[in-house]
Amino acid sequence: MNAKPRKRLFLGLLLGLELFMATGLFILWYVPYRGFENLGGGVSRATGWFFGGVLAIFTLAIVILVLTVIRGRELPGSKWLRGLLIRYLLPVITGIGGLFGVPKDDVRRSFIEINNELVRSAVFKAPPRRFLILMPHCIQKDTCPYRITVDVRNCRQCGLCDFMELTDIAEHLGIEMTVATGGTLARRVVIEVEPEIILAVACERDLSSGIADTYPIPVIGVLIDRPEGPCLNTKVSVQKVREALELFLPEEIYTGEIQPRKAAVS
Ligand code: SF4
Repeated sequence: MNAKPRKRLFLGLLLGLELFMATGLFILWYVPYRGFENLGGGVSRATGWFFGGVLAIFTLAIVILVLTVIRGRELPGSKWLRGLLIRYLLPVITGIGGLFGVPKDDVRRSFIEINNELVRSAVFKAPPRRFLILMPHCIQKDTCPYRITVDVRNCRQCGLCDFMELTDIAEHLGIEMTVATGGTLARRVVIEVEPEIILAVACERDLSSGIADTYPIPVIGVLIDRPEGPCLNTKVSVQKVREALELFLPEEIYTGEIQPRKAAVS
């Protein structure tokens, strides 16, 4: 599945939500219409204007969201919209997706794409010390004896998992990288580092909840691949991690080519 259909899924479900809202509000307005008439036409008109206003604001929010995604540039209201999406709309949209038989992870993937677009659209740079990379433990090779959950620098660069390149990149750029073994630990690290931006690598469920937990800090989400099933020897596109870093680090710091060190153990 490529990126565009992913974004369209969330946007389509958002339109579905608006349709539900429009129908619900129409019923709420129309059914007691006779009762309002007895109180005078002004009450029914006021209710109609109020419901119409709610729908107009929601429509405007969808238009801003679509334009931000298409243009890749922040528009007035984009930041507020990210908060609305993360805090309130994701669970509702996931529920609506369920009504149409859309798997939760598909909706979450689409949400992560939209979130990434909104974060990218802000176009800002952060120094490495205000950057945080959160990694899942499942990327570490299951047979690896080194405790990188304590400190990623314990990685011996053997090349059996993606930590070899990623720890190299983090060290080279002076960025804090932590293996988040749970939400509590991740939150503690976020409080300690006080990042301006987080690059989080995880599965759909953990990324969605992590993005919500750390709001309003912007989070760029990179999804893992699971060639051996969930939570075991997972992979991540190092190229995607590089691209995200390049976008948010000052040019003089990100030089582009980071050559991995030679494997220390075989
Ligand atoms: S690269 Fe090798 S040493 Fe480093 S975490 Fe992966 S398996 Fe362990």
